[in-house]
Parts: sequence; structure tokens; C-alpha cells
Amino acid sequence: MTMDGVDAALRWVKPSVRGMGAYTLKPTEPRIKLNQNESPYDLPAELKAHIHAILADRPWNRYPPFVASNFIAAVSEATGWPEEGVLVANGSNELIQAVLAVTVGPGVSVVIPEPTFTLYRLMTDVNGGTTVSVALTDELAFDVDAIIRAAQETDAAVVVLCTPNNPTGAALSESEIRRIHDETDALILLDQAYVEFGGYDGIPLLADRPRLVVLRTFSKAMAMAGLRAGYMLAHPALAAEVHKAKLPYNINFFSEVAAAEVLRARHLLAPMVAQIAAERDRMVRELALVPGLRVYPSEANFLVFRVETDAITHTALFDRLLADYGILIRDVSKYPLLERCLRVNAGTPEENGAFLDAVRTLMTEAER
Ligand code: PMP
Repeated sequence: MTMDGVDAALRWVKPSVRGMGAYTLKPTEPRIKLNQNESPYDLPAELKAHIHAILADRPWNRYPPFVASNFIAAVSEATGWPEEGVLVANGSNELIQAVLAVTVGPGVSVVIPEPTFTLYRLMTDVNGGTTVSVALTDELAFDVDAIIRAAQETDAAVVVLCTPNNPTGAALSESEIRRIHDETDALILLDQAYVEFGGYDGIPLLADRPRLVVLRTFSKAMAMAGLRAGYMLAHPALAAEVHKAKLPYNINFFSEVAAAEVLRARHLLAPMVAQIAAERDRMVRELALVPGLRVYPSEANFLVFRVETDAITHTALFDRLLADYGILIRDVSKYPLLERCLRVNAGTPEENGAFLDAVRTLMTEAER
């Protein structure tokens, strides 16, 4: 295929989009994969078999139900939030996109504490809005006063709060979320992709706060990243508006059935979630003892650490972990405030042990 004349096509793409970078990830197949905050455990075999049986019985030639009522009912049962206020989607990514599609346009401000998940800024840019970035503190905690001030000063339509935050792991307390809500006029988009592992769960705050929106995913604690499912909880009137930005039939019935069944059987996953959170604490504790590294506290299933010695660069540590040990983690050093930082998620105890041993060996060798 030739690229000749393609400028005639590209001229119609919005300049704001041409100027953006894309959300990317390099494909690699490591021995130990600790780079995407996934669960290290697949779903229990009996649960998978139960889901397979339901799928085998359904006709595949027919569209899924227009409203994913089975999934919505399961979410409503699990959260206590009325079905009319529940939207389900093909991953929570899609709900971030839908919320920002119905709220953001030229001249509209979105307050985003950064560093955080990059999709919020990307979707704000695609919609032609203005990102008002509020830096985390030097300790990588949320600067609540600065978030409130930024929202007030720019009359922000949306404040995005990723709590626990990706990639840093810090979480907001109940009173901090209340303050940000009560002292601003914005919609508060609470992305709680990691809340099963720690931090305050904002669902109880929804009842008398129609400006609050909670997003949850099945990709992390619920061990379903491969199937793509997520949900949003909000006031039914607001949910009805966000619904307008979603494509019909976007959730296929494999994901719909699996998400509903996994939610109903979530007690089976609880021991794994507890183990992953305990492993994260162990990783924080043990990395903190390695000379030359600074570890930040985390409430999520991952943590961030900084290479603070001149004996080895973060790039060399990242590369050697992969080349010598087959361990893939995430280089987050290009994010604001995260110079020389790497992120690793908790895997199985064996995987985490291998990671900790490898880091200790590489750091000791470097310091020698
Ligand atoms: N929110 C946050 C904070 C995330 O880290 C991720 C995944 N990395 C998502 C949302 C998207 O999750 P999914 O689309 O898989 O539900």
C-alpha cells in the first residue's frame, strides 16, 4: 500500500487529534508478567465451566438482549444501587469515554490530578476540552486543596478522581472525596478500578450526591481482563444521559454472562484478592529495605518505586529484569513527577519472590 495522497484523507482529522499521542503498549511475552495490574489468577475452573455451559446453550446467531438486564441486575444486587442508575460496558474504558463524550467540548475544563491513568486526558483532548492538571504532592499524595481550587477557578465540568490512583497507588479518604464534591460544582468521576485492594469505596456516598459517578472494572480483582467488562453507578437521570453516548449492543453476551456470574460468585475470589493485597504490602516492605530504591505506599494491586542511586539507571534495571529474569514490569518514568520510577503489580507469591530476589541481586551488583 502506498501512502501517496493520504494527506487528502488526514486533513479531515481534527488538528487536536493529529497533535496527540496514542495510548500504546509494547507487546511482549515475558515469563513473569507484572506490567498491567491484572490478577495473576484465572477464574476458578468450576466457575468457568458454569459460564461455558450457559454460553453453549445460547444461540450465537442472535443479538444479545438490547438491555444487558442480567448483568445490570447482578450489579444492582452486589452494590445495592438501583438498576436505573447502572450502566454496563465493554470495560470501564468505554464508560470513561462515554462520560467525557457527554460532558466535554471546546471551552470545557476537566480537572485531572496527575500523574494518573492517561485515558482521561486523551478523551478530554479528543472531545476538544481543556485538561486542568493538578500535580500530586512530592509524596505522590492527592493535593485536595489544589484540586478544589482548580475546579472552582476553572468552573470545571468534571473532576476525575482515580482512587486508588494508577500508577501511584495513593487513595483518597471518605472525607477528602466528600470535600472535593461538596466544595465544587463539578461532576466527580470516581474511577475505582482498584478499590477491591484498598482505599475508600465511594458507593455509599452516591445516595444523596447526584454529581457523583462511580466506575468499576472486572479487569483487576475480578480476574476478567480478557473478557472486557465494567460498570458505572450514578443518579438514574445522569446515567440516562451518559447512555446516549454508548453504542447499542456494545457488550457481547460472553462478557455479559461472565460478568454477571462472576459478580454473583465473588465470594470465591475474595481470598485471592486478600492475598494479592497482602503481597503488595510485602513487596512495599521488602523493596523499602533495598538500598538505592524509594518505594511509595500503595492501596492498589501495584506499587511505584524510584531508582535513587547513580549506580544503576531505572532503564537498566527494567531491561535487566526482562533480559536476565524474564520479568516484565512497567516503566512509568515519562509520567510527570515519576522521573526514574518503575511500577510493578503484585503477582503470585512465587512471582513476587522472584521479582524481589532479582531486584536485590541487580541492585547489589550495581552498588558493588
Ligand atoms: N481505570 C483505570 C484507573 C485503569 O487503570 C484501567 C486499566 N488499566 C481502566 C480504568 C480500564 O479498565 P478496563 O477498560 O479494562 O475496565
